[in-house]
Amino acid sequence: MSLLEVDRINTLYGDSHVLFDLSIRVEEGEVIALLGRNGAGKTTTLRSIMGVLSPRSGEIRLDGRPISGLAPSAIANMGVQLVPEERAIFGGLTVEENLRIAALTAPNAWSFERIYGVFPRLKERRKSLGRTLSGGEQQMLSIARALIRDARIILLDEPFEGLAPLIVRDLVNVAAGLAREGRTMIVVEQNVAAALSFATRVYGLNNGHVVFEGTSAELTANPDLARDFLGVG
Ligand code: ATP
Repeated sequence: MSLLEVDRINTLYGDSHVLFDLSIRVEEGEVIALLGRNGAGKTTTLRSIMGVLSPRSGEIRLDGRPISGLAPSAIANMGVQLVPEERAIFGGLTVEENLRIAALTAPNAWSFERIYGVFPRLKERRKSLGRTLSGGEQQMLSIARALIRDARIILLDEPFEGLAPLIVRDLVNVAAGLAREGRTMIVVEQNVAAALSFATRVYGLNNGHVVFEGTSAELTANPDLARDFLGVG
């Protein structure tokens, strides 16, 4: 049984049909990259998994149990954590307060020391207000807020967007470290090279359909696929 199964979901915004019989599966310990043009439906897929949107039909299962229709908070408490594109941190709270709040309702929350082991930079900035952090530090804090809850599966929505290449490299190293430790993730990215550097498998989306499914190695070996088929790369 897969950790997460998205089984032929159809998701709509009002009358606007965005995801069409979309299926993906994620095994424990895998890192899945969701790639595709702007508007392909990547964010909508993450929002459907998180329960922010309810698919009109189809089913989403975690450990074989249906989660579609549950509230986002219930899905979060089952170990699914969304790191949204806009970075969900509290600008008026310190780094440590942001982490403390995230950990509050998690039964297996990590210690600060453990999270600072992954993000030494956040330890240095632990007394700083969220709004004073650089873009890269805010992204680290946003990921740390998911991780401190001992997330079973982390959904990363364009984590490298708008960040300088050196910062992207740091974040890729963190993500690759988490991947090596077996942390399950789904990453939505426009930066295909960065995503493929730590993802194991790839789904390509176009107009709300899965148009490619394969390993990162297959896509890396066929760069035309990414360029022509997905319009990225
Ligand atoms: P992007 O990189 O632009 O975020 P994406 O692949 O994540 O691309 P989605 O954000 O999932 O794409 O959008 C898929 C489609 O749904 C697009 O046609 C978009 O215009 C539409 N859409 C997204 N959000 C809404 C909304 N709140 N209301 C109506 N339509 C929406």
